[in-house]
Amino acid sequence: MSLSEKQIKEFETRLLAEKKEIEEGIEKMRADLDFGDDTDHLDEEADETEEMTKFIGVKKPLEEKMAAIDVALERIKNGTYDKCESCGKEIELEVLEAAPESGLCKSCKIK
Ligand SMILES: [Zn+2]
Repeated sequence: MSLSEKQIKEFETRLLAEKKEIEEGIEKMRADLDFGDDTDHLDEEADETEEMTKFIGVKKPLEEKMAAIDVALERIKNGTYDKCESCGKEIELEVLEAAPESGLCKSCKIK
């Protein structure tokens, strides 16, 4: 059974909302860190490097998720949203419910 247009629309809305949330989260983190132009001060630079490393560590999985969301949105556009990227079968609804950005069906996900 394929997804109805309404279901796909709902997933698209969820994906867009999630993407926006992640973007805002990254933006907020960046603002909190407030990297100034005062990198001339060596003692502060050490601190900033540490903060930066932390920031990148937190940011990376978020960016990866955002990339996955972009791929999912692209698949919605192409009409292949509920097709597994690996085996081409339909992705189970429960998988998409749990992770709308998922591109794999249940059995391929386990592999
Ligand atoms: Zn599959």
